Amino acid sequence: MTIATDTATPIRVRIAPSPTGDPHVGTAYIGLLNFLYARQRAGKFVLRIEDTDRTRFVSTSEQMIFDALRWLGLEWDEGPDVGGPYGPYRQSERTEIYREHVQRLLDSGHAYRSFETAEELEAMRRSQIAAKLPPRYNGAHRELTAAQIAAFEAEGRPAVVRLKVPAEGETAFRDELRGAINFSHNNVDDQVLLKSDGFPTYHLANVVDDHLMRITDVIRAEEWISSTPKHVLLYKAFGWELPRFWHMPLLRNIDKSKISKRKNPVSLIYYRESGFLPQAVLNFLGLMGGGMAQPSEEEIVAKGSSLKQGDIFSLPQMIEKFDFKRISLGGPVFDLTKLKWLNGEYLRALSPEAFFQALRATVFSDEYLRRIAPLVQTRIETLAQFGEMTDFFFKDDVMPAPEVFVPKKRTLEETLDFAAEQLAVLEATPFTAEELEPALKKLGAEKEWPVKDNFMLLRAILTGRTASPPLLESLIVFGKARSLDRMRRFIDAQKRLAATRR
Ligand code: GLU
Repeated sequence: MTIATDTATPIRVRIAPSPTGDPHVGTAYIGLLNFLYARQRAGKFVLRIEDTDRTRFVSTSEQMIFDALRWLGLEWDEGPDVGGPYGPYRQSERTEIYREHVQRLLDSGHAYRSFETAEELEAMRRSQIAAKLPPRYNGAHRELTAAQIAAFEAEGRPAVVRLKVPAEGETAFRDELRGAINFSHNNVDDQVLLKSDGFPTYHLANVVDDHLMRITDVIRAEEWISSTPKHVLLYKAFGWELPRFWHMPLLRNIDKSKISKRKNPVSLIYYRESGFLPQAVLNFLGLMGGGMAQPSEEEIVAKGSSLKQGDIFSLPQMIEKFDFKRISLGGPVFDLTKLKWLNGEYLRALSPEAFFQALRATVFSDEYLRRIAPLVQTRIETLAQFGEMTDFFFKDDVMPAPEVFVPKKRTLEETLDFAAEQLAVLEATPFTAEELEPALKKLGAEKEWPVKDNFMLLRAILTGRTASPPLLESLIVFGKARSLDRMRRFIDAQKRLAATRR
């Protein structure tokens, strides 16, 4: 559908992921919705990288975000790697712009500098908690005199810049899916806008960029609703027009909690490397918003198709039919079983040649085989033994029995607890032999697990067996996303099994 907009303003939307790790399914979900919105309205879809939080920055993440979005077919019109008229599109390259804007707010009295030390802020927080008050900045430095400021500066205290939220009243805005939303200023903190390291916070950079990049519609996840009053106050302080806000229902685990890696693979890399087809993933994410009309009974009868086939649609069909007004606010459930079913439908619909090509592009790619081959070359006597040696690289699941993975003198429970510790270490460690080995050994030393048992357990989880090609190299070739998933599945399944045995 092409929707005529009532104003002459061209539609511009954006996604603004932070490069803090693997690209997330939530980014793809919000990316798809923004993409559809832009394509339906002859608008522009912008990709902006929000990399101002240097403590969570992961240098490889940005490229992974680009690759994952392209794999899905969600091409952006403007972004760090493709340029555009409103760049730079990477926030770390825009710090001067933020500083100028903060100065404007300081000059107009909408912001102020606050000089508390970390200890003072901590003491403030503690006393508020003790008094059963919600912890927030108490406004102590809102009205400092020039002399007080000069004294703090002479002490060499670092300062942050805070937004001066009006003491009374409320901030109201419209959410396109929910209608009017009001936040009493009692519940809005004097947000930090510029940190003492000179970097802006998310709130400031996000608003300044959305304005300067002429974003007309902010389509993002529901979790940002509580930030929106701060953003609205900023737009007002600058004297800027508000964009439209659309807060999309959060993806949920089957138990309705917010989607998390504990309960679902959330890395797009996992889906790509496990042989999910991008069309199936997009189709599945398109179902999440509830924006696709299900076919009517008549259509189903006319086509002679089954009801469930109403769930299957392509990206062009979504551009044609997806209706933002239909989006329902009940949290869409990210049901992996359904995604697998859908992926199966897509696989079955491929021609034999396309199916073969899909295998060769992913789980049997030359690149993958080329990395596996050297791990077994010295360990086999006939080429046919390649299969036995490497089966775990080609399986979706391996599930060793306790006889295989529980070391002598350990209980099942202790072993599963240690496996969970290994998982946490692997999550936090870059997948290179130089980093993995010391990290795992350090864990073993801390928990008093001998190196042999430590690595044997990991080997059993990854390969299902006690003998395998070199372990760390195998983990690396199998890939971080799939290795972590295998471990999580192993731990979950074994815990469930252990509970039934009790
Ligand atoms: N950087 C935020 C994120 O990581 C952007 C949120 C927004 O769209 O405003 O999701």
